[in-house]
Amino acid sequence: MARQVRRAFKYRFYPTEEQAAELSRTFGCVRLVYNKALEERTRAWHVERRRISYTQSSALLTQWKKTREFAFLAEVSCVPLQQALRHLQMAFTNFFAKRAAYPRFKSRKRSRASAEYTRSAFTWRDGHLTLAKMTAPLDIRWSRPLPQGAEPSTVTVSRDSAGRWFVSLLCKDIIPAAPATESAVGIDAGITSLVVLSSGEKVDNPRHERRDRARLAKAQRDLSRKAPGSANRDKARRRVAQVHARIADRRRDFLHKVSTRLVRENQTVVIEDLTVGNMLKNRKLARAMSDAAWRELRSMLEYKCAWYGRDLVVVDRWFPSTKLCGTCGTVRAKLPLDLREWTCECGAVHDRDVNAARNILAAGLAVTACGDGVRPQRDTSRTGRSSAKQETRRATAGALRL
Ligand SMILES: [Zn+2]
Repeated sequence: MARQVRRAFKYRFYPTEEQAAELSRTFGCVRLVYNKALEERTRAWHVERRRISYTQSSALLTQWKKTREFAFLAEVSCVPLQQALRHLQMAFTNFFAKRAAYPRFKSRKRSRASAEYTRSAFTWRDGHLTLAKMTAPLDIRWSRPLPQGAEPSTVTVSRDSAGRWFVSLLCKDIIPAAPATESAVGIDAGITSLVVLSSGEKVDNPRHERRDRARLAKAQRDLSRKAPGSANRDKARRRVAQVHARIADRRRDFLHKVSTRLVRENQTVVIEDLTVGNMLKNRKLARAMSDAAWRELRSMLEYKCAWYGRDLVVVDRWFPSTKLCGTCGTVRAKLPLDLREWTCECGAVHDRDVNAARNILAAGLAVTACGDGVRPQRDTSRTGRSSAKQETRRATAGALRL
């Protein structure tokens, strides 16, 4: 059965000088409004124990525009500013629901510059996109087609640290049904491979990854040698950002291919809830597969499973996937990281990562078998207290008794 979903399509575009200036101004205002509202909400909470709602912060924005100091806020489109307040509201909602840390200020250097336009703030005609306060449509490079007859409902413009401009269009799309299958797969973050599957297959990092990393290291060395505040340092910084951007692009392409394949081929996909903190404690692991790649793959698996009506099961991170013998159920006390292959007392010889992926699959299947309709939700990993996890724990205990 095909499904209708809302999906973002992202393209590069090349702004005219005026457009770039208008957008840069808008980005600055978005950041200012977000930070000012955050400051106001923080103050109200700490000083007066009072929560400021979205409506109240919106009223504040109206007041700021009337002051001489912030009158310039009235010069850019008001929609991205309102959207910034909505994003802040969402950040607070997540914070109060204990899904996220307290919202942080957006820094000019560290955060991606972006502005979100809703339907009233752009026109879409014959495939041309024109934003509020602009006369000419954006010069978009349509690297892939939009779905037939698509009408964007929200448009997000951004500029990355390498100075490239992107526009992301949120459209309705029809996702064709994936082939019916009963297959299930367990996925583990490998040490030398990107991911290892319960089928025994190892999916390696793309070949250029190593070379790109060497390039990145060189660009960073160059940067560290430049005098602070010099024009050369700026150039070197941009170079580092470009290398970073290219690595991220290539990795994303690769992860898209891997995740689409895994989701299309399997009805059930089981992954382990690895946390970034856990992974970074181990330098070797951190080098072999950056935490960013795993997070990205996981989020792709989440939404693609939803698209295709597949089940994604996340097993508890305390589950001893690596040290558990998949054949007899014995748990080893220790398993040094450099041990690629090990032999259990029962005589079974295990490839470390494949054994882990098989155990993850078994734990995941136990969850789906005993849980009545237990399906991990998108945010279970963050709350850490989902019923799916408890089910996993129970299932694990059961497996160990065997
Ligand atoms: Zn064994």
